[in-house]
Order: sequence, then structure tokens, then C-alpha cells
Amino acid sequence: MQKEKEKCSFCGRSKANTNILIAGLEAKICDYCVLQAKAILDEESPQKKSQELSKINILKPSEIKHHLDQYVIGQEEAKKYLSVAVYNHFKRINQPPAKDNDDVEIEKSNIIIVGETGTGKTLLARTIARMLHVPFCIADATVLTEAGYVGEDVESILSRLLQAADFNVEAAERGIIFIDEIDKIARKSDNPSITRDVSGEGVQQALLKLLEGAVVSVPPQGGRKHPEQKMIQVNTQNILFIAGGAFDGIDKKIGSRMKANMIGYAAAKETDVIDKKNLLQYVAPQDIRSYGMIPEIVGRFPVLTSLNPLDKDALRRILTEPKNALVKQYVKLFKMDHIDLSFDDAVLDFIVDKALEFKLGARGLRSILENIMTDAMFDFPSMQDVKHLNITLDYASEKLQKTNIAKLKVA
Ligand code: ADP
Repeated sequence: MQKEKEKCSFCGRSKANTNILIAGLEAKICDYCVLQAKAILDEESPQKKSQELSKINILKPSEIKHHLDQYVIGQEEAKKYLSVAVYNHFKRINQPPAKDNDDVEIEKSNIIIVGETGTGKTLLARTIARMLHVPFCIADATVLTEAGYVGEDVESILSRLLQAADFNVEAAERGIIFIDEIDKIARKSDNPSITRDVSGEGVQQALLKLLEGAVVSVPPQGGRKHPEQKMIQVNTQNILFIAGGAFDGIDKKIGSRMKANMIGYAAAKETDVIDKKNLLQYVAPQDIRSYGMIPEIVGRFPVLTSLNPLDKDALRRILTEPKNALVKQYVKLFKMDHIDLSFDDAVLDFIVDKALEFKLGARGLRSILENIMTDAMFDFPSMQDVKHLNITLDYASEKLQKTNIAKLKVA
């Protein structure tokens, strides 16, 4: 009976099998269990957690940009802005909590990217999130409406982030949210009092709360909040928001603002040549405001950058250069069937010309290639002795001719 008591109450080791057995009032603990308990404490301690956070922050802006370069062609300016903003964001969330009022508080560097559709807005945001190993989600601003109206509450954005973080609230609280088509929640008219603007200004007001940093009750499954639902509290203080939008027609606002400025400074230097074909590059916060975003929202996105339209050269590079370039993907697919796939240069030029002709942008490259390659992907895996396949211009144009995409030409 005495022997029974001489063992560790946690693991059951007998005294003889331990180095030390520490006795308490009702229980005993052995040295092995003490060490294990210490390890658990270390794992859970706030210090350890902040060390884990700082592990994310290893990349300098130039390293972030270098990483982006491997996936995103061109868009140098936007990549630079994004790299700096993300770097500062992680600096910000790694700083110890302010102890006294004198501490300088670094504000969030939420970003708006203005650029035509298909020029790489989502790609940039996604590449950054993947590199940082933080939860990332894409929220579509077009479905958001003011609470109480048909559509989704703004909080549903956070539900999506929680899902991306496997409901790890702490991870979600330092994630990145990409809000697509932010321009679709622009105020519809200059006079907000004429009609209820449930998918415009009302949503912007609701969004403001998330951007400012607040503890928000989030329905885990998204959709509408309802009373019986269990809510999860998420603090948005350290979530980075990247918003993207095409802002159709904003170039006219930029143009007229610049014209007004020019008249104001009549003697504007002759050398200040304005690139009229790409006015987006001159976008300024006041243009976003005059487009219909409320000043508070504009203020909460201190970083504003633009993407360039993709020209022939950029499209051609997109086909072959990025780490997961389309051509590389098809080569890999065929390699799995032990077939060496190659494309004549003329084919790649042809694909780019067609994407431009059909005004499909970078997204079109994929569908054009798919149309050219479908027959080969169907037939070749069953051909035993074929080891090489070279796509020629004749083959490509013949295949494309037969597909629906070629009909776009008429439209
Ligand atoms: P959007 O600007 O509408 O968000 P996306 O980022 O979704 O456009 O781009 C659509 C697709 O086009 C991407 O998946 C990517 O394959 C390609 N793409 C667009 N821009 C670029 C770019 N600058 N570099 C590489 N690929 C690009």
C-alpha cells in the first residue's frame, strides 16, 4: 500500500524509475513530468507567441519585391509600394504593446490598388499572403450591402478569413484580406440624402469599422447574423486590408484634375509630359474621393498605387516567365505522361496577339492555350510510343479556329 503512493500522480512512474519525485499535499510529480509541464508552459507563453510572430517578419522590402518578381510580371511601382507597406505592417504588429502615452503608434498601411481588370491585383495580394504564411481571403465587395438588406453583411468578410485560418482566431487576427472590386461600393450620387444607398455609402460606413480596428462579432459560417447563432469575436486591429478596383472612368477624373492643375500652374514645365494613354499612374486620393469613396475610407487606405495595362511584351512574358507560368504548367502536365512538350516561338506570339485582339487580357491567355491544347491532352496520353510534341503555328491556329473563342472575333 505504501509502495502505491510512491509514484508520480501524472504519469504513474514509480519512485525507483524517477530521479526525483516531488510530493505535494495530495499528489506527487516526477522530474520527467515537471520538464514536460515546463515545455507546455513555454509553448503557450505570450513571449513565445510574440517570437513566433516575429519569425514572419524576416523579409526586407527588397526581398518581398524579389519574391513578387518571380510571380508577377512588370508592375514595378505597385510591387515596391506593396513591399514597403507589408514590411511596415509586420513591423507594426511585432512592436510590443504601447506602455505609456508617449509611445509612437505606427498606423496600419492598408492599400488600394487601382488597375484594369486582369492586370494582377489579386495575383499580387495572393502572392504576398502565400509568402508570409498568413491567412488570406478574397472578399468580393459587390455582394456586400448594409445590414438588414439583401446581400451579405460586411462581417462576412471576417468569416471568410476565419475559415481560411481554420478558425484559429489568433492567426486570423494578423491575416490579410483582399477586397476585390472596392469601386463597386462607391457612392452612387453626389447627394447622399436623395435615396438610401444600401450598397454604396452604407457599406462604406460599415467597412470603416473593420478598417479602423474593432472587436467584431463574426458569424463563423458567414452570411447574415441571426440571434441564436454563436459568434466569434475577432479583433481587426492588425488585419491588413488590400483593396483592388478597376475604377472605370477614373482616368477622366484624373485627367481633368491634372488639366486644372496645369492651368493653375500655367508655366508648368514643358518637360512634364503626361502619358495620356495611362492616366491611372497619376491616381491620387482626391480622385478616389471624387469617384464616390467617402473621405474616411480614403483616409484608412494610406497607400494608393496603380497597375499598368498589360502590353504585348508583358503578355508574352506572362506566358513563360513567372514561376508557375502557363507554358510551364502545360509542359509539366505532359511530362507526367512522359512526353516532352515544346512550343514554337511563333505560337506564343500568336497567343498573345489573339488575347489582345479579343481584348481578353492576361486571363485570355489561359483560355486560348486551353483551346489549342485540349485535343492533344485528350489524344496523347493513350499514344504509347510518342515521346515529343512540338506545337507549331499551323497546329495552333487550326485548333483555335475550331473553337468558340475564335468566334469572339466577330463580336
Ligand atoms: P485582377 O487585376 O482582375 O485581380 P488577376 O490578378 O486575377 O487580375 O489576374 C488574372 C490572371 O492573369 C492571373 O491569374 C495571372 O495568371 C494573370 N496575370 C495578370 N497580371 C499578371 C502579371 N502582371 N504577371 C503575371 N500574371 C498576370
